[in-house]
Amino acid sequence: MSRKIYVNGCIVDEKDAKVSVFDHGYLYGDGIFEGIRAYNGRVFKLKEHIERLYKSAKTIMLEIPLTPEEMEEAILETIRANNLMDAYIRVVISRGVGDLGLDPRKCKKPTVVIIASKIKLYDQELYEKGLKVVTIPTRRNGPEMVNPRVKSLNYLNNIMARIEANLAGAPEAIILNDEGYVAECTGDNIFIIEGDELITPPKYAGILRGIKRDVAMEIARDLGLNVKEELFTRYDVFNADECFLTGTAAEVIPVIEVDGRQVGEGKPGKYTKKIIEEFRRIANSTGVTIYPKNEVRVS
Ligand code: PMP
Repeated sequence: MSRKIYVNGCIVDEKDAKVSVFDHGYLYGDGIFEGIRAYNGRVFKLKEHIERLYKSAKTIMLEIPLTPEEMEEAILETIRANNLMDAYIRVVISRGVGDLGLDPRKCKKPTVVIIASKIKLYDQELYEKGLKVVTIPTRRNGPEMVNPRVKSLNYLNNIMARIEANLAGAPEAIILNDEGYVAECTGDNIFIIEGDELITPPKYAGILRGIKRDVAMEIARDLGLNVKEELFTRYDVFNADECFLTGTAAEVIPVIEVDGRQVGEGKPGKYTKKIIEEFRRIANSTGVTIYPKNEVRVS
């Protein structure tokens, strides 16, 4: 079945979902996006994702032509149009059609696209065995450049990091900031556990403040871990008891090796396993209901 895509207020067939080559999202990466996930007929952390989208928009001075409430409804409508219970939803808002210069004032109307589909980054086996990742030469752009807290359409920094990870034969890269502290991965936030402490880089370290990062911190607190947002280096990762990544697409995934150094016992740690289990339980049982009348859908 062809996917149904939301484009500027209309839900159309995938083949008819088209954006102009003069759109500044295409010409300059001028725009923002969100990646959201639905589990079991509910959209997980929808309000938080919408809030982050509007903060990104405000920062780059892009006026989204929908209220947050209308955006929520447009997202739900797009999922319904695709009859999905479990979904990965991509919301893209670009500056819109302009001329070949980069002045955003020439773009009169932002382009709004919503895609509801599926995503699978890693095989289940890797959630059980853990990832072997590397650090790479490209540094995360700092908050004084394009602030990584803006989920912008300009992902070249992350893509360069991913290319370097690919060259090293690794499934993911840990990106350091310009001072050499661990920032995040190409599409995930990073955590280490030392004793009863869970540590993740602070929000000003050059990271996207992940929504699943907050979920993992909440779960860790409930497990009795002492949660800290603190800078750390490769040394701390090599010598941690446990390490894992969080992100909407990857969910919670263990890391068992970094730059050839085994982390902890070289297998997913006890807290990481508990956090994965609890994350799945929460994700499958909370969120905004997609089909309010309990209509049964096939996923
Ligand atoms: N960092 C980057 C660079 C990302 O692209 C993502 C994915 N959105 C994350 C972290 C994790 O954020 P979230 O938990 O909101 O998906």
